This record gives sequence, C-alpha cells and structure tokens, in this order.
Amino acid sequence: MARLRANDVGVPLVTDDGAPVVVRRSARRRRTVAAFWEDGKAVVAIPASFTKSQEQEWVRRMLAKLKRQGEQGSGRNKRRPATDEVLAAHAAHLSRTYLGGRAVPTSVRWVGNQNSRWGSATPADGTIRLSNKLQPMPQWVIDYVLVHELAHLVVAGHTADFWRLVEAYPETQRAKAFLEGVAFATSRGLPTDSDIDHPAVDLDS
Ligand SMILES: [Zn+2]
Repeated sequence: MARLRANDVGVPLVTDDGAPVVVRRSARRRRTVAAFWEDGKAVVAIPASFTKSQEQEWVRRMLAKLKRQGEQGSGRNKRRPATDEVLAAHAAHLSRTYLGGRAVPTSVRWVGNQNSRWGSATPADGTIRLSNKLQPMPQWVIDYVLVHELAHLVVAGHTADFWRLVEAYPETQRAKAFLEGVAFATSRGLPTDSDIDHPAVDLDS
C-alpha cells in the first residue's frame, strides 16, 4: 500500500521508496486516471474536475498500483535509474532542502567501479560519484548517500559537524542500517577490517 507523506509547508508527496510524486490535473481528462514513471518521478494524471479528497483517494490507489507493477517488474512502468543529469538536479534539490544549499557539486554521476564504496566525493573539485549498485535500492537510501556525499563538500571528514549536517536528512539512521544490512548480506560473513574502519559510504580524497 502506498503511503503518502506530506505536510503543510509544501514538502512534496513521495512514494514508499521516496520518489517524488507529481499530481497532474488535466482539463481534457474526463473520467480516467493514469499513473506512470517519468524521470524518476511518479506521475499521477487526474481529471481537473476532481475534488481534493478525490485526488487524495486516487493518488493513493494509483501509487499502490504503480508499486505492484514495479514489484512485478513489468517493463515500461518499472522505475529506471535517474540519468546523470537528473541525478545532478536531484542532488541540488537535496542540498537546498537539507543543507541550506551550502553544497554545490560540479558534477554528480553514476560509476561502476566503486568496489566497496556506495559513494564518494572530492571536495577539491566538487565532484560526487555514486555506485551504480545503489540503483535498485529505494530512493530514500540513494538520497542518504547523496546527502552524505554533498555534506562532504562542506565538511571533508566524518566529524561531529559533518554528522550534524547529514542528520538533517530524516532517513539517515534508517538508511545507514539498510546499507549495513546490504553490505553484510553481500559479504555473507564477517566484515573485513576496512569495512569496520570505514562505514559503507566513505570519502574518496
Ligand atoms: Zn563519508
């Protein structure tokens, strides 16, 4: 069941996976409702005539449907990883939302050679790289890694100041636990010394 989170200060709706939800009202649309993925966002198209409560009801139903389709992996509606361009725009959004816009990355991109790292940042040139192993993970986990790496553009080390920045992102503890679980399952055994020394997300500079 899709769970909607919203508040009255204009924070957008998100899916269970943390993907943004866009409600699109159309005057041409009379009685049909549709939902689909577009650039990493869940779009719900409804008739312009819908009341606010009809909108809420149908957004809830359609997100649940979209989620079922995603779980069944039925082609077209399956969430696709954001392109590097979308990723960069999303990172800028996260920086504004959680870091007061203080982190301004020069590039954000997916990479396939991160080995044990989920993400890395180079404060000297403002670049951020995310492991493409994150792509199938929930959006709120990817967002945590992005916020973590963005925060490294402001504070290089894992200091108290650094974690204060990162913890402005509300899913930080949950996402860290998720990634530790993934790392544990992947290794299927005891972590190596370097895994103990460094959290799964680590600075690359
Ligand atoms: Zn780090």
